[in-house]
Amino acid sequence: MKNNYEEFMDKINEIKKLKEKPTLLLHTCCALCFSSAYLQLKDYFKITVFFYNPNIYPLEEYEKRKQEVLRMIQIFNNEYHTEVQFIEKIDTFDDYKSKKIHSKGCLDCFHLRLLKSFMYANENHFDYMTTTLTVGRLKNSKLLNQIGQSLQSMFDPTQYLISDFKKNGGIDLSLQCKEKYHIYAQCYCGCEPYYQEKSQ
Ligand code: SF4
Repeated sequence: MKNNYEEFMDKINEIKKLKEKPTLLLHTCCALCFSSAYLQLKDYFKITVFFYNPNIYPLEEYEKRKQEVLRMIQIFNNEYHTEVQFIEKIDTFDDYKSKKIHSKGCLDCFHLRLLKSFMYANENHFDYMTTTLTVGRLKNSKLLNQIGQSLQSMFDPTQYLISDFKKNGGIDLSLQCKEKYHIYAQCYCGCEPYYQEKSQ
C-alpha cells in the first residue's frame, strides 16, 4: 500500500500532464510551513493561501504569523514569478473557544480548519484543497489526510490533495527558508493552553 507521500507524487505526476495548472486553496498555518509547501507545489498549481486559524492565541501572535505569511508570499511571488493570492477568514478566538474546540484537542482543531477550508474551496470553485499543516514535525500527516478524505464527499468536485510535506526533505526546506528569509518561528503550536505553558 502506498504511503501519503507516494500518493501525493502520483497526483503530481498526473497533474504534470495537464495543459493548465489547476487551482489550489492552500490552508496555511504559518510562514515556516508555507515556505516548504509552496516550494513543493508552485510548479504544479495556481496557489491561493487561505489563512484560517482561529486557534492561534493571543491576537498579537495571530497577527504576527499572518504578517509573516504575507511577507513570504510577496518574496516568493517576486522571486519565482508566481501570483499567489491571500485570503483570510476570520473567526474570533472567542468563537473558537465557545465551540470548545481547544479543550477537546488537536483532532477537532484540525477538523475545524480543514472543514472551513474545504467549504471555502468548494464554494469558490477551486480544483484542489490541502493544508500546510502536514509540514509540522509533530503533526500527524496520516490523521490530517484521513480528515481531509473524510470530508471529500461533501465537497465534490473540489478534490482534497493528499500531502506529506515533511517528507523528502520538506522539514529541511522550511529550515533553510527560515535561515535565508529570517522567518519568524513560533515556539508553540497555537492555542491558549500551550501559550500559557510556554509563558511559565
Ligand atoms: S496544539 Fe495546535 S493543533 Fe492542537 S489544539 Fe492546540 S492549536 Fe490546535
